[in-house]
Amino acid sequence: MERRLIGVDIGGSNVKIGIFTTAGELVRQSKFKTPLERNGESIIPATWEMVQATLEAEESPAGIAIGVPGPVKAGTVYGAVNLGWKTFAVKKAFWEVSQGACPVIVGNDASLAAFGEFKARESAQSPFILLTLGTGIGGGIVADGKILEGKNGFAGEFGHMKVHPDGPLCGCGKKGCLESFAGLKGIRERIKEKIARDPQNPLHKDPLKIEDILAAENEGIAPAVEVLEDAVEALGRAASIITTAFDPEALLFGGGLTEAWTELLPRIRERYFRYAFKETIHTPLEKARLGNEAGIRGAMEVLRHDQALRQ
Ligand SMILES: [Zn+2]
Repeated sequence: MERRLIGVDIGGSNVKIGIFTTAGELVRQSKFKTPLERNGESIIPATWEMVQATLEAEESPAGIAIGVPGPVKAGTVYGAVNLGWKTFAVKKAFWEVSQGACPVIVGNDASLAAFGEFKARESAQSPFILLTLGTGIGGGIVADGKILEGKNGFAGEFGHMKVHPDGPLCGCGKKGCLESFAGLKGIRERIKEKIARDPQNPLHKDPLKIEDILAAENEGIAPAVEVLEDAVEALGRAASIITTAFDPEALLFGGGLTEAWTELLPRIRERYFRYAFKETIHTPLEKARLGNEAGIRGAMEVLRHDQALRQ
């Protein structure tokens, strides 16, 4: 029997599964559309089924780590809106459905990705921070070589840092969150509001992609220029707050919109220099490296470094 580490990344669109050797090499991967019906109640059973289907006959699971899009503390997720989950004991549910086939670790998806990025670096020093830019904004913190969950599982929820006192209303119910300025959903909403009385505006698109917004900015179309300026400003400000709080080895920009944001990274750095505190001005602000595989690789690395699994 070949023992395999299994990294799972449960997202609002797809569930990704990676099968790795115990040395951390990716053997194969699979994915399926996240079954969101009935508040996502079949996500965990479907994931276990797919894990079994992806493993070959001579392979056995040595451990499985699962990333979920919500705050996690001790194997329980405290709400994952995109999956339809309220408070849900994911670890227990997976353990039951797999009948205790192997040890299970559950973490926040961005935290697992942060751990993967941290381990992918030549000189892995912590603290180390990943900011994930997508429809919303999340993040993960590695401190003392471990994922920092925080008391309630909210550590690294950088999207809800207040960067402006009179900012737009965020989904969390408060005003001025980073995510409402620099998450794709927030950017779209701000543009939509600004072009409401301008039916000819080329930004009336559905879905309006980040590439469309970047192209419109290049052409000098007003709401795109203004809204992206605000996004860059918010990210520069947020980055300076994060590095002041953690003085990290590096601050990485990853997530679904990594490529688009990489174009804006020089401008974010420019703003960052304006706000950064003392030596943290030298903190590298860089593009994350693992791309789409960050979630499953991070999950695998957490398994590889879990003391309980070493015996
Ligand atoms: Zn918020």
